[in-house]
Amino acid sequence: MKSVYDTLIVGAGLAGACAAAALSRHECVLLADAIGPAAGASGVGAGLVNPLMARRANVPWRAREALSSLHTLLNVTEYSAGAGAGAGSAPGVLRPAQDEAQATDFERAARDHPDLGTWIPEPTDWPHVHAPFGLLRVDAGQSVSIPRLVRAAVDLAVKRGADTLFPAALMSWRPADQPGALPRPPIDVKLNGLDTPVRTRRLLLCLGNNLMRPWSSSFLHASLPRLHLHAVKGQSVRVARPLGLPPLPALSGHGYIVDEGDTLFVGSTYEHTFVDMSPDPDIGDALLSRAARMVPALQNAQIVERMAGCRATVPGTRLPMIGPVPDQPDVWVFTGLGSKGLLLAPLLSGELHHYFRSPAAIPDELQLARWPQNR
Ligand SMILES: Cc1cc2nc3c(=O)[nH]c(=O)nc-3n(C[C@H](O)[C@H](O)[C@H](O)COP(=O)(O)OP(=O)(O)OC[C@H]3O[C@@H](n4cnc5c(N)ncnc54)[C@H](O)[C@@H]3O)c2cc1C
Repeated sequence: MKSVYDTLIVGAGLAGACAAAALSRHECVLLADAIGPAAGASGVGAGLVNPLMARRANVPWRAREALSSLHTLLNVTEYSAGAGAGAGSAPGVLRPAQDEAQATDFERAARDHPDLGTWIPEPTDWPHVHAPFGLLRVDAGQSVSIPRLVRAAVDLAVKRGADTLFPAALMSWRPADQPGALPRPPIDVKLNGLDTPVRTRRLLLCLGNNLMRPWSSSFLHASLPRLHLHAVKGQSVRVARPLGLPPLPALSGHGYIVDEGDTLFVGSTYEHTFVDMSPDPDIGDALLSRAARMVPALQNAQIVERMAGCRATVPGTRLPMIGPVPDQPDVWVFTGLGSKGLLLAPLLSGELHHYFRSPAAIPDELQLARWPQNR
């Protein structure tokens, strides 16, 4: 442990782990988490990177830069070399069109963005995939195991000199008793399990949905404004591989499917109202039935695991939120990755160092001050 850190990052999900990997190239970083890496939404499992998203195959915000940042991270970490690197990490995503109208949209998207995808009107290469209206092969997409990427990013941060502290929950913070310190006094942060506070010049909160009421602690309630965030529950199931099913590329349409080898990961719901975070067996069964519309062999697959997680989203922009908290210029928030964590966490983490020096450089659409209730 150092006597003072440049940045203490709390929360070791995608946001915090990618931030730690990027920032530790420039400064002295401590990464802490109440439980450990990928304990929140980032622990749910396999995810898709899809630069031709949603019903109309739209290209998301800064998609090409985001893809490039993700590829760099995958290459510089041990992710690609990890045990079972192939499982849940294949290039390309197939998007079977659900009807004629979507086929038209997909054909247009492939024509407008030939670097991202290819329209295949009569697919024959994947006999187990049901695609009567044709399919969009998103060549620039891929599946990535989110927990494995988080752990690889934490390892990279450590290799670059960062310290880590797990488990260590954030309890409170306050300006250090150092009158006259320039430009401002550092911050003393109390972490559960440590007798003395950790001193840092900056505190970066990467707490996912824990920055939202009603999940946050009373201290967070009192220390932060009510952030413009919305929780979206997502449920997924893992099924045993049906006998004789050949390896499948990742699929997205009626939910999504990622081939993990012995198992297949089937995601995921978008629940805007919910009472608790436990997986609901009926919803898991419905997910699997939907997925079987893309891969009929999954119809009677055996569910071996049911999972649920919670995405923090920013309604209105569907983009993350980054920046200093009003009246606390050295306490920053980085959250709201929604369902684009894999695309946006590596990109924005790489820019954090620059944002710290000039907060005005944060794109307007990500600024906390954009939302009156954040001020
Ligand atoms: C079902 C589901 C499917 C998804 N599919 C995809 C997909 O296909 N593609 C994609 O790109 N994204 C997907 N996502 C979204 C992606 O998982 C999230 O965007 C991303 O994981 C969010 O990362 P985060 O670091 O912001 O939050 P989290 O992963 O939730 O991390 C927050 C961390 O903060 C820690 N923490 C909380 N409170 C404290 C405290 N007081 N003290 C210390 N630590 C604390 C937690 O332990 C946790 O580790 C999916 C999400 C879900 C739920």
